[in-house]
Amino acid sequence: MSLFNDIGRKVETLKQEVEKASDDEATHQCSECETRLYTDHDECPDCGSTAVLPLSD
Ligand SMILES: [Zn+2]
Repeated sequence: MSLFNDIGRKVETLKQEVEKASDDEATHQCSECETRLYTDHDECPDCGSTAVLPLSD
C-alpha cells in the first residue's frame, strides 16, 4: 500500500507551504535572535531586545 506514503507526502508539502506563507507575512525581525514578527514591536517578545527591525524586500 502506497496510500500512506502519498498522504504523508501531501501533509509534508502542506506544512512547508504554511511555513513559507508565514515567512512571507512577517513584517519585522529581531536582529538579536532572528525571531520573525508579524507586527511592529518596541521590544522582541522572545529575547527582550529593542533591535527589532522592519523586514525589507
Ligand atoms: Zn529577539
